[in-house]
Amino acid sequence: MDRFDLVKESFMKKEVPACAPAGKTSDYYGELVFDRKKMCKYLDADSLQALLACIEGGKPLDRKTADGVARGMKEWAIEHGVTHVTHWFQPLTEGTAEKHDSLIDYDGKGGVIETFDGKMLAQQEPDASSFPSGGIRATFEARGYTAWDPTSPVFILDDTLCIPTVFISYTGEALDYKTPLKKALKAVSDAAVPICKYFDPGVTKVYSYLGWEQEYFLVDEGLYAARTDLMITGRTLFGHSSSKNQQLDDHYFAAIPPRVAAFMRDLEIAGHRLGIPLKTRHNEVAPNQFELAPIYGETNLANDQNQIVMNLMNRIARKHGFVVLLHEKPFDGVNGSGKHNNWSLGTDKGTQLLAPGKDAKGNLQFITFFVNVLAAVQKHNALLKASIASATNAHRLGANEAPPAIVSAFLGRTMTDVLHKLLEVPSDTPIEIAGKKSKSVGLVEIPEVFVDNTDRNRTSPFAFTGNRFEFRAVGSCANCAGAMTTLNAAVAEQLIAFKEDVEKEIAKGKKVPVAIMDALKPIIKSVIDTVCFDGNGYTEEWKKEAERRGLDIETNVPKMFCQFTKPASVEMFTKTGVYSEKELAARNDVKWETYVKKVQIESRVMVRMALNHIVPAALEYKGKLLKEVIMAKEIYGNLDNCTTELRILDDINKYVEAVRVKATAMKEARKKANVIEDTYERALAYHEIAESLYDLRKPIDKLEEVVDNKMWPLPKYRELLFIS
Ligand code: ADP
Ligand code: MG
Repeated sequence: MDRFDLVKESFMKKEVPACAPAGKTSDYYGELVFDRKKMCKYLDADSLQALLACIEGGKPLDRKTADGVARGMKEWAIEHGVTHVTHWFQPLTEGTAEKHDSLIDYDGKGGVIETFDGKMLAQQEPDASSFPSGGIRATFEARGYTAWDPTSPVFILDDTLCIPTVFISYTGEALDYKTPLKKALKAVSDAAVPICKYFDPGVTKVYSYLGWEQEYFLVDEGLYAARTDLMITGRTLFGHSSSKNQQLDDHYFAAIPPRVAAFMRDLEIAGHRLGIPLKTRHNEVAPNQFELAPIYGETNLANDQNQIVMNLMNRIARKHGFVVLLHEKPFDGVNGSGKHNNWSLGTDKGTQLLAPGKDAKGNLQFITFFVNVLAAVQKHNALLKASIASATNAHRLGANEAPPAIVSAFLGRTMTDVLHKLLEVPSDTPIEIAGKKSKSVGLVEIPEVFVDNTDRNRTSPFAFTGNRFEFRAVGSCANCAGAMTTLNAAVAEQLIAFKEDVEKEIAKGKKVPVAIMDALKPIIKSVIDTVCFDGNGYTEEWKKEAERRGLDIETNVPKMFCQFTKPASVEMFTKTGVYSEKELAARNDVKWETYVKKVQIESRVMVRMALNHIVPAALEYKGKLLKEVIMAKEIYGNLDNCTTELRILDDINKYVEAVRVKATAMKEARKKANVIEDTYERALAYHEIAESLYDLRKPIDKLEEVVDNKMWPLPKYRELLFIS
């Protein structure tokens, strides 16, 4: 099939109906997760009680209980046709890992029986040597452990019972995303509870919440298969922009094409059956770009669910003849994809700590958490940026369509005014919500309609949106845990320090609310002057101003990772118990190594496609033109009628030569970089190569404009980007 057949086929593809749902959503919601309802039904009283104590109170699970739980789970799983079991974990790669074991064992009578016991549930020892560890675990010590995380429910995918687990080395270091995330969530709870107790002594736990918004592209699978770059790197390494892309603003929130809607419906049904509260779906800004978002939930679970959804998206898309692109920048010239991480904190008494309260006390609590979050973001702005940095996200950040490569916080008019006012009034001034009380002079007021009137500033990487912060710089294919671990740990550290400040004020004989406000004031002053910025983050002036304010403006990804091992970060992560210094160093090695590999693969694919696909097509067209020129010379005796052909030939010669020169230079640069021993230095060398990919791309995109459309070997942007 040639390119035109593929395009025609893609255009003609009919919508595949979504799986018929089994009744109302609420009827099948969660049917494939071992949730509380199933626990009550399938577990004996002792096992149930012990498991709940483990989930809610963090009590360790003993072998006897694990056996009891496994018995109940097995019964439930077999009823759903399960034949296999796997520990499901999140190594430091993209995506999740699983190794399936069948449930069978010999029954001693020549046959087999289904078995599943507490040991299989609680712990396994996958060979860890093939997962990135940054040298924590040398190959000769290949043992790694996966251990069940009972706070995330076991679920069924096809015929397999999946057990969410942490993944750690023999010596106890984390080899995954989940372990440090769980530690950070504990740290933020431990640090926040004593502060909540100033307001409500009954609080015993603080939850971190995550509501992710997943952006993605869909492309037709036939066209995808004809683009080696998409298949291997997840993005187009070249492609001239389509005459029409997003300039008419006609895609965002537009009607969803029926083929896409059927895919979305299937995805939602699959998600709902797995207890994932998928809620929102819509077209995004770029053509073929879409978004989905669930109702927010506890961060560890919400992150697991995001991992499951990314997996479901890939499988379900294929059923509908699509491929999902989760790469941050699959197409040049149109918006890339991110994953907004809506983040908040709430108590076990149901209070949202980043939403205005019902009264002056509630509002002071809100301001306390609000300001301390800003302080954490101020102190660790460079580290937070490092937490979302990657070879792929680098293409999106700092481009004028996504968050700038400077982490600042957007507050909106209301909260900016509130903070300024708080600095002016005495520390015992009540903070009220306007409309709830009769107005009296001296109050600092937050308007009641506040949640809805927070401005929308899409240029801010960390925006307050009424009852939460949106960390908008996370990459679309990233594991949210990287960003969420850093954010929660940084906030934990700040809250610990703040508590000490308040205690000092109380020791001076001040009442608690006054002590809190006095401790807050210098922080408010500081955040207003540095990290708070409501203006346009895309401008050159902001870059200068941010630098003047001391915010990090680094754009080189391998250099950004150095933030993780800076003394302030090591202190923060070790104090909160999230990462040891050894783990931080090891993870940086993994990050640099991954960066190198990603760029190396892109660069190889690009050079090969340039020389094997593009140059031959250009030379074929050149040959055709040359023949025409020779014929013209024979017929007319001169070249007077060949000006156009000759001009085009000049262009082809120029661009083909540029491709050859740049491709050769890139190969040479790779050779030099590959022999650099030090991982960091090698990553720096590859950063240069990453920059030069754009250089090689330019003459290729020019050739696309010049070469006969019929001879162009790759589906073009205009063909890839418009699903009918
Ligand atoms: P928008 O695109 O306007 O930001 P969406 O509806 O697409 O809005 O997404 C909002 C996301 O924010 C959803 O995932 C939602 O669950 C989440 N969210 C809402 N409130 C909170 C909160 N208090 N904490 C964390 N996430 C929240
Ligand atoms: Mg949002």
